[in-house]
Amino acid sequence: MITFNRPPYTGNEDKYVLESMRSGKISGDGEFSKRCQDWFEERLGCKKALLTPSCTHALEMAAILLDIGPGDEVIMPSYTFVSTANAFALRGAKVVFVDVRPDTMNLDEKLIEKAITSATKAIVVVHYAGVSCDMDAVMSLARARNLYVVEDAAQGMMSTFKGKPLGTIGHIGAYSFHETKNYTSAGEGGLLIINDEQFAIRAEVIREKGTNRSQFFRGMVDKYSWVDLGSSYLPSDVQAAYLWGQLEKAEEIYIDRMAIWDQYYNLLSQLADDGSIELPKIPNDCSHNAHMFYIKVKGLEVRTDLIAHLKRCDVMAVFHYIPLHTAPAGKIYSRFEGEDIFTTQESERLVRLPIWYGMPTTSCQHVAQSILDFFK
Ligand SMILES: *Cc1c(COP(=O)(O)O)cnc(C)c1O
Repeated sequence: MITFNRPPYTGNEDKYVLESMRSGKISGDGEFSKRCQDWFEERLGCKKALLTPSCTHALEMAAILLDIGPGDEVIMPSYTFVSTANAFALRGAKVVFVDVRPDTMNLDEKLIEKAITSATKAIVVVHYAGVSCDMDAVMSLARARNLYVVEDAAQGMMSTFKGKPLGTIGHIGAYSFHETKNYTSAGEGGLLIINDEQFAIRAEVIREKGTNRSQFFRGMVDKYSWVDLGSSYLPSDVQAAYLWGQLEKAEEIYIDRMAIWDQYYNLLSQLADDGSIELPKIPNDCSHNAHMFYIKVKGLEVRTDLIAHLKRCDVMAVFHYIPLHTAPAGKIYSRFEGEDIFTTQESERLVRLPIWYGMPTTSCQHVAQSILDFFK
């Protein structure tokens, strides 16, 4: 069976994990955490980069940092992972969904303005498949209406918009290092990216259980105490050690995935030409990271048949998000602004193909050939 995903492993992770385990300091913000955070701060040019146990936790921290509370509204797409919405619903906010663009499956920037009310506090964009939203449009609207922008860039490490890394354009960004993402910190993990200086110190406090412990360790205060709301949002240094093995090979992983993505694109282009499927579209200002390779078929029935056919061919292909506004909790914590023209319809047409670091060329060819056979 060609599996849908395989967690990336490049060869040095176990060496660093052992090194960390034997170092006598394996809790959060140890040597490897610092190395990873410095790597991100330098590469991203952000004000602060903090490892978190997950992207979910980074998003929860963003909601606390923005002082989101009951009565507030937050605008986002419904076609996303539950954590994008949950992080803000947990603070008591109402989640307001707008429709997606069919070309990228990202929220349609032209629909945001109509969804803004006096209660709106933030726009949360999701860069689906590591392909950027129109961040120029989002940021200029946010500036004009005095709103914060959070980038759920869980899938977006190594992608850019007009040359800027995803996660560094809004006020706050978040990455995921879950095993299904391009880079992993031993299965679970995330990164909080602070781009607006005003959040830098408070982010450390929230992450350290609401204490100023980080400042204490830097010698900036002579004792540490409870100064704010907070929780425990630090991953173990052993996880950071695993991630460090991947960051050293960040380019290699990126190049490998891009080659598989391009291969799919070329092998399947004849099906796109004859109208059987649609291939992913990458807008001009975006460079992507080959996080995902998806195709779109005519509709739900064809998709179900195709996934079953691929299973018979020993290929694991999967669909993706069920729109959150149609989910049981979505009915309680959210509302959909405007009409759902594309969110449900397009989500039912989408199939994701296996793509992972180290996937053999022959596997990619087998997947593509199996799809070609299906449409014959
Ligand atoms: C994976 C993902 C998350 C959650 O990441 P975790 O690290 O598993 O918490 C959130 N949002 C999006 C868009 C994702 O793809």
